Order: sequence, then C-alpha cells, then structure tokens
Amino acid sequence: MINNSRKIIIVGAGPVGCYLGQLLKQMGFDPLILEEHGEVGKPVQCAGIVGKGTFADMRLPVSERSILNIIDGAKVTFKDQAFQLLRPKVAYIVSREIFDKELSQGLKIEYNTLLQDIHVIKEGYLLKTSNGEYFADLVIGADGPNSRVRKSLEFSSDMKLYRGYQYRLKMALPKTNQVEVHYVKPFSLFTWLIPEGNGTVRLGTISHNPYRELKEFMEKQSINGEIIEKNAGAIPIGTCQLVKKNAVLIGDAACQIKPITSGGIYYGMKAAELLADAIKENQLSLYEKKWKDEFEQEVKICLLIRYILENMPDDVLQCIFRHVADNVSLVEKMGDFENHSSVVWSLILNPRTYPTIGALLLGMLKSPKFLLRSFFRLPR
Ligand SMILES: Cc1cc2nc3c(=O)[nH]c(=O)nc-3n(C[C@H](O)[C@H](O)[C@H](O)COP(=O)(O)OP(=O)(O)OC[C@H]3O[C@@H](n4cnc5c(N)ncnc54)[C@H](O)[C@@H]3O)c2cc1C
Repeated sequence: MINNSRKIIIVGAGPVGCYLGQLLKQMGFDPLILEEHGEVGKPVQCAGIVGKGTFADMRLPVSERSILNIIDGAKVTFKDQAFQLLRPKVAYIVSREIFDKELSQGLKIEYNTLLQDIHVIKEGYLLKTSNGEYFADLVIGADGPNSRVRKSLEFSSDMKLYRGYQYRLKMALPKTNQVEVHYVKPFSLFTWLIPEGNGTVRLGTISHNPYRELKEFMEKQSINGEIIEKNAGAIPIGTCQLVKKNAVLIGDAACQIKPITSGGIYYGMKAAELLADAIKENQLSLYEKKWKDEFEQEVKICLLIRYILENMPDDVLQCIFRHVADNVSLVEKMGDFENHSSVVWSLILNPRTYPTIGALLLGMLKSPKFLLRSFFRLPR
C-alpha cells in the first residue's frame, strides 16, 4: 500500500538532508524526509569541528546556538616532531545535536522509517521502508556513508570507507582554544583532541582498529578522564556518481568529504545549495556540472595527495613534515579551512620546497607501479 504520494523524497535527516529540505521549502517545494531514527541529531557520529565558512558562506542562516567553542589554532604532531599553527577564530566546535535539530525545524520528517529498498517504476520510484511504501518522482539519497539509496540504485563509486571512533571525556587540555592532531599516517590514520571548552574533550581517531588505537593513545599520553559518551561512524573517501535519472546522491552518501581532514559538513551543505538550484531549474544535470566546476578539482588533488602520502615510507613522511614545520608561517598565511590544495600549491611553488619534492619523487621512484597509479590519479 502506498501511504504517501509526495513528489520529492529525501532519505536521511542529517545536516545535509535537512539543509536541502530547508532550501527546497523556501523555493516552494514540499519535500518529505524519511529518517530511520526517532529524532534528528542522534546518535552523534562526528567530532563537530567546522570552519567559519559553515556559518558565513551558507545561503540560509545556520544555528549559532550550536557553537560550544572557538578554535584559534592547532598543535600537529607526527612521530617525535610537532608544530603549532596559530589562526585566530579559524574554526568552531559545535554540538551536532543542536546543529542538526535546528536545521530540521519546520520540515516534514517521517521518523522511525528505515529505507530498505528502492524499485524503479514507470516515471518514478517505489521506496520500501520499515514504515510502509512511499512513491517519489525524485528521490534524494542524503542517507550517509552506508547509503541504501546508493546501493539500491547501483550508483557507481570508487569510495573506500574508513572507521572513526570518538570518546567524550571529562578532562581539561592545556589550551582550551587549540585542537591537537596526532598523525600516525597522514591523512588516513590519526587521532584528535578537541576541547569543547566546558571541561569536556572529544578524543577520536580514524584508524583500521580505532578501539585499540584510542586505548594505546590514552596509555601513551596518560589520559584518564572519565568517558561520558562514545560515538562511532564511517567516513567515505573517494568519488561517486551524483545523478542517475531522477535519483540523486548528496553529502556523505555521495562521498562529498574533504579527503585531507575527513570533514563533510561544509561540502555537503554547499552541495545542497547546488542541488536545490538544479531542482528549481528542473535540470538535475546542473547539480553534477556545478559540483564538478566548483569542487571536483580540489577533491581530486587532495585525493592524490592522500594516496601518495598513504604509500610513502616514514622517512620521507618525516622529511615532508619537517619541511611543513619549518614553513609554518606560510601555512598560517595561505591555509584555508575549506580549500586545502591552496596551501599545498604555495608550498610546492616555494623554492625552499624543492629538496623535499626531490625526496618525495625518489620515494615514488622506488615503486614504478605506485608512480604509474599516481599518474593516472592526476586530475584532468
Ligand atoms: C568520527 C567522525 C568524526 C567526524 N568529524 C567531522 C568534523 O569534525 N567535521 C566535519 O565537517 N565532518 C566530520 N565528520 C563527517 C560528518 O559527520 C559528515 O560528513 C556529515 O554528518 C554528513 O552529513 P550527511 O547529512 O550527509 O550524513 P549523515 O550525518 O550521516 O546523516 C545521514 C542520515 O540518514 C539517516 N539514514 C541512514 N540510512 C538510512 C536509511 N536507510 N533510511 C532512513 N534514514 C537513513 C541517518 O540516520 C542520518 O540521520 C566526521 C565523521 C565521523 C565518522
């Protein structure tokens, strides 16, 4: 039995699905959101650090009530080396629960409705859920990294899922306005410490074995604050097809994640603006085109950097890290929270970087297969 005949269905009431819902509503559409959980914003699967662009660059206002702390820089470590980055008010620490809940205000959301499968029928889609069947002319998968929409409709993707795990701890850090990032392997294996600013710290990791990684990190750093919450989630890294007939993917479902920091909120919300415009124009291909024009090049460059560093031996990584540490002022000047390739280009174009590039190329030459694979990953 079809118990709803609304035309636009968004699967997933995360920040991206909700922001898209708000944009569409403002344009006069009447989207319905299907959400597997009983409320928005829970469970939390995020470290909640966003650049100021998430508040300043969005078309619709985003909840400033969700801001818990303001960050002025970072301490970055790799092996026994470390450097400090100072960038006043570079980022905010948000409560994802408040952030998501405020984005969902006034939207039509069917809770406790888990999408199970989608069938293509005549001019639309039949969505089978734990709460009955729904018909959609246009179906939008904003259903996160393990997207059921992506799987049911067989969108093509080269994504790889990474595992994230995080504790909220009762403890204080020496600096309440600074995050700490500890790399084991840039940028696929690292641990973070983020002060919420209220005697609570978010300690998380991205790792193949996050539980062991966090345990070892806490032992090594003598961290023994009381654990008050545990969160876990997946991070999709790669690229993905965005449009297939009248079905679309967005946010984590579409791998719209920054490959270097694994942050996805900014990209997902900017993609929502592109998609809302394309829906208004009744031309879904515009969404794909605008995403490519504005973000794809940056994502591909960062994917290549990530791939190269993932495959570099530690001695070369140490050499690169030392070079970055020696040029912190350049990183502070050129660094952009949302656009990471700008700082890489400014480092590469600096003549002081040439010996480091030489070491990197020598590292790559040791494996011709790896060199070839890197070449084919060059953005075109
Ligand atoms: C440990 C960790 C730390 C992170 N830290 C940061 C960070 O500091 N900054 C940052 O920018 N990003 C961070 N991210 C990434 C960020 O959380 C995501 O990019 C962001 O949540 C993506 O939003 P979304 O709306 O696309 O997907 P999601 O937030 O995953 O929302 C998807 C929604 O769809 C629902 N859903 C899923 N499947 C179904 C289904 N079959 N039927 C119905 N509903 C469904 C889910 O319940 C959820 O509500 C982190 C991720 C992890 C795992």
